[in-house]
Amino acid sequence: MDSSLEGSGTAPHPVTGAPFPSPVPPGTGWPEDPAGRDTPVAGSAEEVRALARSAGDLATLEARISVCRACPRLVDWRESVARSGRRASFADQPYWGRPGPSFGDPRARVLLVGLAPAANGTNRTGRMFTGDSSGEFLYASLHRTGWAAHPVSVATGDGQSLTGMRIVAAVRCAPPANHPTSEERTTCAPWLSRELDLAGGGLAALLCLGGIAWDATVSAARSAGWVVPRPKPRFGHAVRATLVTPSGHEVALVGCYHVSPHNTYTGRLTPAMLDDLLVGLRTDSDG
Ligand code: SF4
Repeated sequence: MDSSLEGSGTAPHPVTGAPFPSPVPPGTGWPEDPAGRDTPVAGSAEEVRALARSAGDLATLEARISVCRACPRLVDWRESVARSGRRASFADQPYWGRPGPSFGDPRARVLLVGLAPAANGTNRTGRMFTGDSSGEFLYASLHRTGWAAHPVSVATGDGQSLTGMRIVAAVRCAPPANHPTSEERTTCAPWLSRELDLAGGGLAALLCLGGIAWDATVSAARSAGWVVPRPKPRFGHAVRATLVTPSGHEVALVGCYHVSPHNTYTGRLTPAMLDDLLVGLRTDSDG
């Protein structure tokens, strides 16, 4: 832990107890922080495109994503929540307050694509789907079906891990009312497209949670030079399509209702429905 960060205005990390300000500066010892103090920061859509294109590996890509500042509205929202908008039940914790980096296995056969971080979930913990009810539903299923080491994901540094799977998102910053604008989605798209570039040859399937993630994945695949069926396949739960990478490798595109409380509390998406899809992805992954 950087001694300059100790003192007032900090709160202890829930696992390590080390003090951090909110938002968390890169390269200061936060568990699983992919960035360092020298990681280049994208401040515009053009810089997102350039830094995504020049990222030579997934570790470099995640580091650059995690410090991005290209969308003024989202930067303002994520940081204002982190500084002064914390939920009362988390008031004693530091808030990550930065874009959510991908989480999971760098040699994944399956990419799970979410929509965007939640203000008091990933924006607090710094890990995808960690710290909210959507994540509780998702990780319980990932554990039951053998993808996750533990049934819960609480905080970075808690020992959670994924084998064969990696979680990414269409938009990496928490948006107000969980609703990114189309301009923000477009600005963030090169990060996902580069992720497909770097991971594509080893992928067997892309599991998209919700229609926005589905559309973002199809667009990112096209930008990465993949062949996408025309007309564009329409999102639906358990709908499948086949995408083809520039090297001719086939990757399954699979739809799943989002794990949001709106869907899980109403029974639109049940644990059994998600388990079925995740078990089925084993077949893709082993094939
Ligand atoms: S949403 Fe994406 S492009 Fe916009 S600031 Fe966050 S990481 Fe950068």
